[in-house]
Amino acid sequence: MIPPIANRFVAGETPAEAIEYAADLNDRGVTAILNLLGEHYHERPPADEDAAAYRRLVADVGDSDVDACVSVKPSQIGLDVGPEVFAENLETIAAAAADHDVFAWVDMEDHETTDATMDTFESLARTHAGNMGLCVQANLKRTEQDLDRLADVPGKVRLVKGAYDEPDDVAYQDKPDVNEAYRTHLEFMFREFDDGVAVGSHDPAMISYAAELHEEYGTDYEVQMLMGIREDAQTELAATGVPTYQYVPYGGKWFSYFYRRAMERKENLVFALRAVLGR
Ligand code: FAD
Repeated sequence: MIPPIANRFVAGETPAEAIEYAADLNDRGVTAILNLLGEHYHERPPADEDAAAYRRLVADVGDSDVDACVSVKPSQIGLDVGPEVFAENLETIAAAAADHDVFAWVDMEDHETTDATMDTFESLARTHAGNMGLCVQANLKRTEQDLDRLADVPGKVRLVKGAYDEPDDVAYQDKPDVNEAYRTHLEFMFREFDDGVAVGSHDPAMISYAAELHEEYGTDYEVQMLMGIREDAQTELAATGVPTYQYVPYGGKWFSYFYRRAMERKENLVFALRAVLGR
């Protein structure tokens, strides 16, 4: 069982708990993006095991009444073992997701993985048109070119600011520069993308800018936020008719994810400590 200290950020240890959480989220008008926690497997067996867990998850979601999609990390299903292992495992997840009519997202990890992730995504998205999406990061200087390329690939794209510490030859280091890049990329996506835009951010400024761009270009969009962060804003946004998604991590490997969330913001740490102290 996930202890109270972590259950603001993690939905449970089992797929059944995650699906039950997703059903409650649906009652608030929000759709779940389920993510089985795990990353950086350097051996094939755990990568294959997690790929199999994702195949079972999409089958369970497809068989349920729950409105949910999934999001998978490349290094969780074999990218650190080899790009061909990642491609093979992602293909099986994409095929299972398509069979069960469940949308499959691919997360983006550090810049050394971007080429392999883009290449594999592009070939699979062409086969499973309309059922897959990829995350790109505004802090990476290469993202303008990547978006140009993705404009011709079927599937949705989630724009995030970027969560990885990157060297300054490949990534903007200062927040204002990342924010400026985020706005520039968002405008490009609303102007050029046919399959909709996913705004992966808690930033009220970026969410209002997306609403303005939607008025201007008419492109469909959705907002995605993390479990445990600005939950009220998620419900309020969904009530205004903006498709709103919550990224919902679950699984036995919850501790390091919870630790990152708790440490990244003073308010989160205070919340976690209150849970420990029972106040
Ligand atoms: P920030 O610049 O962190 O914050 C901007 C503003 O948002 C703040 O000033 C505040 O007003 C509000 N805010 C932010 N956090 C909080 C909080 N805890 N409580 C209250 N208000 C807050 N990164 C990757 O590198 N790869 C991925 O695949 C990836 N997938 C993601 C999927 C989703 C759905 C989301 C939401 C994020 C994902 N990220 C991913 C993480 C992302 O890159 C950022 O690190 C993270 O979202 C923080 O950036 P931000 O846009 O929310 O804005």
